[in-house]
Amino acid sequence: MVENVKVGVFLSDCGGQLPKILDFDAIMGYVKGIPGVVLVERSSEFWRGEGIKKILDAVKRGKVNRVVVAESVPKLGEINIAQAVEEAGLNPYLVEVVDLKNGCAWPHRETPREATEKAKAMLLAAVERVKLLEPIEKIEFPVLQSALVIGGGIAGMQAAMDLAELGFKVYLIEKEPFLGGIAARAGTFFPTDDCAICIQSSTSDVKTVTPTSRKCVYRSGISEVPNLKILTNAKVVKVEGVPGNYRVTVEKRPRYVDESKCVGCNLCIEACPVEVPDDYNAGLKTRKAVYINVPNVYPPVPVIDEEACKFHECARCVEVCPSDAINLDQKAELVSLNVGSIIVAVGFREFDPSVIKEYHYDDYPDVITHLELARMIDGFGPTGGMILRPSDRK
Ligand code: SF4
Ligand code: SF4
Repeated sequence: MVENVKVGVFLSDCGGQLPKILDFDAIMGYVKGIPGVVLVERSSEFWRGEGIKKILDAVKRGKVNRVVVAESVPKLGEINIAQAVEEAGLNPYLVEVVDLKNGCAWPHRETPREATEKAKAMLLAAVERVKLLEPIEKIEFPVLQSALVIGGGIAGMQAAMDLAELGFKVYLIEKEPFLGGIAARAGTFFPTDDCAICIQSSTSDVKTVTPTSRKCVYRSGISEVPNLKILTNAKVVKVEGVPGNYRVTVEKRPRYVDESKCVGCNLCIEACPVEVPDDYNAGLKTRKAVYINVPNVYPPVPVIDEEACKFHECARCVEVCPSDAINLDQKAELVSLNVGSIIVAVGFREFDPSVIKEYHYDDYPDVITHLELARMIDGFGPTGGMILRPSDRK
């Protein structure tokens, strides 16, 4: 424990609401007996007004050097109280805020005796924690004006474009061969039928569109945004350094198709003899070993599935490619990036309904998930926008 700790505990009764459930006299008596507690105050609120003045007065007079506040607006209260005690001369990280209303009284209103015991336990924990806290000093250090965004779904794309348009150098990396993530598979969203992958217009667009307008991520030219470099088929393998200056190693797996040479003719896809289930379309159709998810993806360049491809045994795609864009010997490469900050926007995986046996997802082919339905509704999807039973395609 830090030497000479003097804890002040400030209990808000929420304008008299909490004592209807919690025994405040018992709580105050209990808290006064906790070693290290030198002051216990009660008021209707402590995060502003007269309440916060009591905290500041105790800090300024040196009566307390640690502060525990039981307040019903924990987030806002914590910010206000921390700022105020800092102005009063106490390090703002020596404050602990607990929520006796939403975390205790309200959920246990039917059992007030037990709720009172829980409130005592919460306050004991807060006091013991604040006794162990040590001041954290603010430091300033240079920060590189560049950022890495991990995840090329809708959230990652939005973050990357916003930062790039603010003037930061941005790297957007996506582990799949194409951008879009789950949102791209979802097709359109209820109730506006907006394309799911449309993004909110950034503030820099307010001259041409309203602030609430949305725009197509592809037509808006994500690949043309200055300062934004996109790496698909890539994953982070190492992060070193400190906040403000990270060195990130990214492994870029081979696409086997040169993005700068491909003209998007799709002749390679037509020529490829290998067909495999199409995961992007939830297995509702097949695709070739060289493929592109849907017409509007970025990059608009096919990728070769190395688990399905027969490579030099076949090489039909190489023969038909008019621009010599395919290199079946391409290797993975490591790319080193230097960035000041990292945004992780890796999204989520669709829930596997087979773990809930009552759904019979594994038993009946016509039990489908939301994304399987979405792929069917999508005009570019496996059924061309028709909703069909997977079992008989009717
Ligand atoms: S080399 Fe692979 S991708 Fe190319 S046509 Fe043959 S199987 Fe398809
Ligand atoms: S055949 Fe060549 S140019 Fe045409 S889509 Fe395939 S890789 Fe691109």
